[in-house]
Amino acid sequence: MTLPNSAAGWLELDQRYRIKGRYDITQVLVRGEGVRVWDADGKSYIDFESGQVCASTGHCHPAYTKAIVAQASSLVQTGSGYTSPPRVMLAKKLAEIMPEGLERSYFACTGSEATEAALRLAKIYTGRSEILTLMRGYHGMTHGSLAVTGLGGKFKNVPGSGLQGVTYLPAPYAYRNPFKEEDASGDLAFFRQGLEIINWTSTGAPAAFLLEVVMSVGGMIVPSRQYVQAVRRWCSETGTLMIVDEAQSGVGRSGRWFAVEHFGVVPDIITTSKSLGGGVPLSGVTTTRAIADQVAERGYHQSSSHTDDPFLCAVGLANIAIVEQERLVENAAEQGAYLKAALEEMKRRYEIVGDVRGIGLMLGIEIVTDKASKTPSAAHATAISRYCRDNGLLLGHRPTGAVSGNVIRILPPLILQQPEADEALAIINAAIEYAQRTVHPTTAAGTGWM
Ligand code: PMP
Repeated sequence: MTLPNSAAGWLELDQRYRIKGRYDITQVLVRGEGVRVWDADGKSYIDFESGQVCASTGHCHPAYTKAIVAQASSLVQTGSGYTSPPRVMLAKKLAEIMPEGLERSYFACTGSEATEAALRLAKIYTGRSEILTLMRGYHGMTHGSLAVTGLGGKFKNVPGSGLQGVTYLPAPYAYRNPFKEEDASGDLAFFRQGLEIINWTSTGAPAAFLLEVVMSVGGMIVPSRQYVQAVRRWCSETGTLMIVDEAQSGVGRSGRWFAVEHFGVVPDIITTSKSLGGGVPLSGVTTTRAIADQVAERGYHQSSSHTDDPFLCAVGLANIAIVEQERLVENAAEQGAYLKAALEEMKRRYEIVGDVRGIGLMLGIEIVTDKASKTPSAAHATAISRYCRDNGLLLGHRPTGAVSGNVIRILPPLILQQPEADEALAIINAAIEYAQRTVHPTTAAGTGWM
C-alpha cells in the first residue's frame, strides 16, 4: 500500500481504524524537537501542552534519546520478581528529591495505575474503605481512578462504573467562591463545607483524602496554603492518609521539585506519572518507610507486567538528570512568572479574561463573557484555542475547566526560553483579541467539554 502523503490522508486512514474516544483528532504529528512539533504537512507548532503534559524536558532532548537508546540496547524488561540498577537508582533519586520522609516507591506505567495502587495501599494500611476526593479533581480513567475523579457527565457515562464509599468535596475554587462573605481571605469555607459533607454523608474515618494541589484538568485551580494545611491537619487527626497526585505538577513543573512544597506540607503518599517519565509510560507511588513496612506486613499485593521495567526506570532517571543539570525547576519558576505577568496584563486589557492563575509552568486563563457576570464562555475559549492552533501554538485540543470548558491551560516544556515564550504570548494575545471581537456574547455561554 502507498502511504498517505498529507495530514488529511493520514486522518482519513486514522478514522477508518479507530474506536472514537474522548478526543476529536485534528492533527497528525510526525516529529518533535525541543518545544516544537511538526505535522504531516510540515507545519510547525509550539507545544504548550508538552505532549500530554509528559514531555517536560521537551521533545527528543538529545540526552533523553541517548538514554533510551542505551537502555534499549542492554535490557528493556524483566519479570516482576527481579530488580535492576535503573529501578534502584530511580527510587533512590526520588527519595532524595521528594519531601523529607517519602522514600519508598513502587513503579507502574500510567497515572491511573498509580492512583489505583495508592488507593489500595491506603485501604490496606488503614483497614478502612472510604475515600475523600475533590470535585473537579482528575485521577485517571480506569474504573477505580475514574470513580475518584470529580468530573461528571461524559466521564461517568459508563453503566455500572463507580466505587463504593467515595465522597466528593467542593474544590477550593477561589475565583468562584459562593461563600465569599464568610471567606473574604480565601478558600477555607470550602474546607468547612467539605467537613460538613464528610460528617453528614460518611463514617468520618476514610482511608484517604486524595487531591491535586494544582487542579489542572478541573480548570487550573490552586488551593490556598491554608486549605492544603487544613487537609493535612485533618488527615493527621483522623488517621486518614493524605495522597497528593502530582502527575502533572511533579518533577519540577510547579517551580519546585514537587508542588506540595509550595504549601508547606508533607503528604503520606505522592503519586507521580507524566512528568516522571518525560514521555515514556512511567508512574510511581512513593510513601514513607513506616507506611511501606506496615502494608508489606499486611499483604500489599501489587504488580503488573511492567512494574519496575528497567527501560522505563532508566529513561525516568535520565529525565530527572536533565531537569537537575539544566536547572529546569528554576527555569519553570522563572518562565512561569514571566508568562503569568504577561497574561495578567492581558487580563487588564480584555473583558473576556476573567482570571489568570497557576504556579510555575502550570497556568490557566479563565474565559468569561464579561468580568462582572463571570459567565463561563466555552465559545470564546474554544475560539482562542482554535486560533492558536491555526497559528502555530498547541494549547490543548479544547479548553478545560470541567463542565464549563472555558479555561485555557498553559503547560509548556520546562526548557522553555523567553523568545519562544514571547512568540507564544503574541499568538495568545492575538487569539484573545480575535475571540473578543468576533464571538457574539449572546451565543458565548456554553457547556463545552474538556
Ligand atoms: N492524575 C492527574 C492529575 C492527571 O492529570 C492524569 C492524566 N491527565 C492522571 C492522574 C491519569 O494519568 P493517565 O492518563 O496516565 O492514566
